[in-house]
Amino acid sequence: MASSDFIEELRGVVSLAIDHADQDLRKKINQELHEHPETAYQETFAHDTITQFLEDRGFTVKRGTYGLATSFEAEIGSSGRLVVICAEYDALPQIGHACGHNLIATSSIAAFLGAAEALKKSGAPGRLRLLGTPAEEGGGGKVKLIEAGAFKDEIAAAIMAHPMPTHQIFGPDASHTYDGLAGLKMIASHKFRTEFRGKTAHAAGEPWNGVNALDAAVAAYSSVGLLRQQIQPDERVHAVIEVGGTVPNVITEYTRMNWNVRSPTIARADKLLARVKACIEGAAIATGCELNYIV
Ligand SMILES: [Zn+2]
Repeated sequence: MASSDFIEELRGVVSLAIDHADQDLRKKINQELHEHPETAYQETFAHDTITQFLEDRGFTVKRGTYGLATSFEAEIGSSGRLVVICAEYDALPQIGHACGHNLIATSSIAAFLGAAEALKKSGAPGRLRLLGTPAEEGGGGKVKLIEAGAFKDEIAAAIMAHPMPTHQIFGPDASHTYDGLAGLKMIASHKFRTEFRGKTAHAAGEPWNGVNALDAAVAAYSSVGLLRQQIQPDERVHAVIEVGGTVPNVITEYTRMNWNVRSPTIARADKLLARVKACIEGAAIATGCELNYIV
């Protein structure tokens, strides 16, 4: 059993290692990633930048792991327990690094560098793995990693930090008494797209021959708006019309919507999803459009 003095000493080793890497982490990782935002599965700049950064520090890095071109893995240590530090680095379409996955990558790499140094100094058994996890903002990157066996080893802990505004932790009236993730409620969500298919016609000449897919999208959106007053205060439904037609004088034959249905638990999210689907399916029936779900 390590003495508290020894643990204190190792804390110093961690801090020193991170302090030494501080400027490089800031300039070569954090700022570079922020200036080169890449969306789900396209994170080649981030992948190459981070793997090079680790190789320059003497780590052996596996590139393009688990069948994903922009995933990577670096591991040190032997035997003992295995701790995995996940690193995200994807951004949002058009917005860039809105929720700060550049900061996630930076903090995960910093934690890995610091803990790796402490592991080496301590001589203790144990393994530390940094896992690059693409496509968190969309595309379910971690699901693909799980399916490909990235977490099949016996893992003592898999950890990651995510930046967020302080008002989400403490609440607008500072009423929360917990700090960090303990103060944040995670929420289950169903994400999917819908397509409505109707029939085009000239909107002035013969609108009665058209089947209006934009009407279906508007009806679905409006019905969910009405549904909102009968859902729980901690539940959320939001949608956008991604494809809504081209010109007003042609009856819109195709529309596509993108939906998020959220509730604190999967069981409740499933029930809410059924109610939302009833609105969407009702809109299809009312307008005579065909409906297709893209999950
Ligand atoms: Zn995020």
